[in-house]
Amino acid sequence: MKKGVIITIDGPSAAGKGTVARKLSKRLKIGYLDTGAMYRAIALLSKRKDVCSEDDSAMEELLRAVRITFFTGEDLTPRVLLNNEDVTEAIRVPDISALSSDVARCAAVRGRLREMQREIGSSGDIVAEGRDMGTYVFPEAEHKFFLDASASERARRRWLELREKGQDIALQEVALQMEKRDKQDTERRLAPLHPAPDAVIIDTNTLTADGVVDYILKAIQGAHG
Ligand code: C5P
Repeated sequence: MKKGVIITIDGPSAAGKGTVARKLSKRLKIGYLDTGAMYRAIALLSKRKDVCSEDDSAMEELLRAVRITFFTGEDLTPRVLLNNEDVTEAIRVPDISALSSDVARCAAVRGRLREMQREIGSSGDIVAEGRDMGTYVFPEAEHKFFLDASASERARRRWLELREKGQDIALQEVALQMEKRDKQDTERRLAPLHPAPDAVIIDTNTLTADGVVDYILKAIQGAHG
C-alpha cells in the first residue's frame, strides 16, 4: 500500500467497527485510531468536573487542558490515557456511552477532537474508526467504509460484550440505550452519523469480523488495481 493512506470506518454502535478496524490495522501493519474513545474520555472528564455538555464556554474551558493519548498494553490491546491516567475501562460503561453522545453535540468538542484526529492522521497511515471519519474529519480519505447491521443484532453483540466484562444488564435495556444514542448521533446538527457518498456500505449481519476485514482488503486491493 502506498504511503499516507487513511482508511475510514464509520457506522452506528456495535456494527463491528472496533474489532474490524483493529484487525485491519494489524493486517496492514498501520496505526489504529479509535475516535469514539476520545469522545468517551471527554465525557468522563465532564462528568468528573460536573460540567454540563450544553454549557459551551464551560466545555471550552474543560478542553483547554485535555490530553488524550493512546498506547498498546502488555496484552497488545489498545489503551487510552486521559491526562496520563489510564481510563480504558472507565470509559466503557453505559452511562459514559450515553454522555459521550451528549458531549459529541458540542461544537467546541467536535472542533478540538477533529484537530487532534487530523494531527494523528498526518503522522502516518491509519485506520480511523468513528461516526464522521469519512464525512467530516477525513473527507479526502482514499478508502471509506460504512459498517451497518440490524438494530437487534447490534444490541445482541453489545449485550454479549458487556456480559463478558461482568456488567449485569438486560438485553432490552441495551437495545433501548443504543437506539437512543444512534438516533441522537444521526439527528444531531454537527457531523451527524451517515455514510459518506463515496463510502462502501457493508452489512455485517451475517459476516464475521474476519470476513469483513477480508472484504475490505479486497476492496482496497481492487482500488489499487
Ligand atoms: O464508537 P463509540 O461508541 O465509542 O462512540 C461513543 C460516542 O461518541 C458515539 O455515540 C458518538 O456520539 C460519539 N462519536 C462521534 N464521532 C466519532 C466517534 C464517536 O460523535 N467520530
